[in-house]
Amino acid sequence: MTGDQKEKLKNLLEESEVLFDEPMKLHTTFRIGGNAECFVRIQNIEELSALVEFCRREDLPFFFMGKGSNLLVSDNGIAGVVATFGDGMSDIIVKDDMIIAEGGASLSAVASHALQKGLTGFEFAAGIPGSVGGAVRMNAGAYGGEMSQVVGWVRVLTPDGNIKTILGAHLEFGYRTSILKDVPYIVLSCGIQLMPGDEKQIRITMLELGARRREKQPLEYPSAGSTFKRPEGYFAGKLIEEAGCRGLSVGGAKVSEKHCGFIINENDATAKDVSQLIEEVRKRVYENSGILLEPEIIFMGE
Ligand SMILES: Cc1cc2nc3c(=O)[nH]c(=O)nc-3n(C[C@H](O)[C@H](O)[C@H](O)COP(=O)(O)OP(=O)(O)OC[C@H]3O[C@@H](n4cnc5c(N)ncnc54)[C@H](O)[C@@H]3O)c2cc1C
Repeated sequence: MTGDQKEKLKNLLEESEVLFDEPMKLHTTFRIGGNAECFVRIQNIEELSALVEFCRREDLPFFFMGKGSNLLVSDNGIAGVVATFGDGMSDIIVKDDMIIAEGGASLSAVASHALQKGLTGFEFAAGIPGSVGGAVRMNAGAYGGEMSQVVGWVRVLTPDGNIKTILGAHLEFGYRTSILKDVPYIVLSCGIQLMPGDEKQIRITMLELGARRREKQPLEYPSAGSTFKRPEGYFAGKLIEEAGCRGLSVGGAKVSEKHCGFIINENDATAKDVSQLIEEVRKRVYENSGILLEPEIIFMGE
């Protein structure tokens, strides 16, 4: 990125925060990742449109991320611009049984609105540490619920700068995936369709699921959640355990002893440590069971 491009970016994004050579380990739950050449916190749609258009015109690589809770960012960092939503793009309003949340809203904030208004259907997501946009892209889910069950519609920004609304039924949701895997739309907001429920019961369910998470998952260490997708008919954690990988480590990265499905950053791990550990686990699981695990986490950067 040239000095001239940096100056133009600062002028273009007056309302938003523009940081150069920003360590991505500060923006991922794994606490791993080299520097983003430019990191931007977007506060409104106009600036996002202007940024997308600028990057296209200047031929700068552009990446959009949410809360960085499913990402493994390269130690070499990311050339170009990485953008995420700031507080200005995280509003939540409730209209009857629908919660309308902006793309940067956290799932936990949406869940507390649902609880306050006595709306049921979102309890599953209360403990997932992502944003609404990231959750739609990933079709995030837990404990029998997933985004596909509640997304009524999304408003997206297309790469050519248009804003359009897509119904949930057209998002091609699958296991930890959606149409957004292949089409680089940015989710600006989402209509989450819930149902009237009993506030007391909603609270109990959220507390129970939170307790289950704390009991089973190594939340005391940085991670990106489940490292691998669940192979049909199996549990990744069990396959990993049966392949003798519990506690296996490379550098500072380790297969959690509490939950083998999680690779944790135990001791200042690098992305290279995690990648090597992922490959070693895949190899051992394949040799032991004939099943090839597929990573759920998304690799970003070189
Ligand atoms: C401790 C822990 C527990 C977890 N538990 C679960 C769980 O139970 N279930 C589960 O499904 N996941 C879980 N995860 C993984 C993660 O929280 C989810 O995948 C979440 O949906 C990612 O959201 P994010 O905002 O952090 O997205 P990021 O990780 O920042 O990005 C993920 C993908 O989404 C895209 N994206 C982000 N925002 C947008 C947007 N506005 N528009 C379009 N694309 C966008 C990015 O480009 C990227 O491709 C867990 C993670 C951790 C660390």
